[in-house]
Amino acid sequence: MDIGPGLPAPTPAGRFAPSPSGELHVGNLRTAVLAWLFARTTGRGFVIRMEDLDRTAVGADQQQLADLAAIGLDWDPPVIYQTGRQEIYQSVIDDLRDAGRTFECFCTRREILEAPSAPHAPQGAYPGTCRDLTAAQRVERRATGRPPAVRLRSDTDVFTVDDLLHGNHTGAVDDFVIQRNDGTPAYNLAVVVDDAAQGIDQVVRGDDLLSSAPRQAYLATLLGHTPPTYAHVPMVLNSEHVRLSKRDGAVTLTDLAERGVTADDVLSHMASSLGLADRGEPVDIAAILERFRPAALPRDPWILTDDEWS
Ligand code: GLU
Repeated sequence: MDIGPGLPAPTPAGRFAPSPSGELHVGNLRTAVLAWLFARTTGRGFVIRMEDLDRTAVGADQQQLADLAAIGLDWDPPVIYQTGRQEIYQSVIDDLRDAGRTFECFCTRREILEAPSAPHAPQGAYPGTCRDLTAAQRVERRATGRPPAVRLRSDTDVFTVDDLLHGNHTGAVDDFVIQRNDGTPAYNLAVVVDDAAQGIDQVVRGDDLLSSAPRQAYLATLLGHTPPTYAHVPMVLNSEHVRLSKRDGAVTLTDLAERGVTADDVLSHMASSLGLADRGEPVDIAAILERFRPAALPRDPWILTDDEWS
């Protein structure tokens, strides 16, 4: 299936794909460092993609790029913005529809939660309510005025991905949304189209996305692409063992700079959390690159407390 022209980037490549909704925090930066290390130690290109189809903040993209540069990362231009690629996503959605691989879904979130799930379906899977509507039923649903989302008509319940940290990981695939009911292409579609167009064969990102990988790899296969190799890396958690967020105090380079912690210091602390530096040892990105051994990476999350910086 045609996903549009390839994008100018050295291939194969790894990538970091932030959502420009605000400043990156230490958790995001640590994932970016890992994505860069995996790519550069394997001779790959490295690209940044701004996933800006959702909520964005003005100037956040430039701030994120500045922060990535401040901790020593480099990348291969151009930086791609998903909002500039809507026509490509639409044409992939149209092709999937023309091939009979989609259906319109009128369900609300609540209806999905309350519907009895299909026998043997994985927990949380779409229950199939709109999968086989008749033409007359579709007309009736449309008349309610609620615009439909578009779902992929999947022909499997599971798919297996290759993950450098998790091994062969088999996870659920359901009839997932590829276009939201406001017309925006869904993340799960855009990510697959872009990774293929950018020649990305290695996806390193937080392990909160491990459960999305089987869906994405399945869709890549349907579109005629070899799914990437994944490395879903441990996240950074706060002292309550909850995923780090901006609410957790000084967690961005700007906040930390106000406390006298430089970008170099942040990088050294992240390296130590990854077993790539001793505690308190100043290291730069070149030294970290030299020391990086994927097999020796910690498999547990980094619990970041405020004491880290004192
Ligand atoms: N844009 C997503 C995020 O910031 C990451 C998507 C991905 O790496 O596949 O959480």
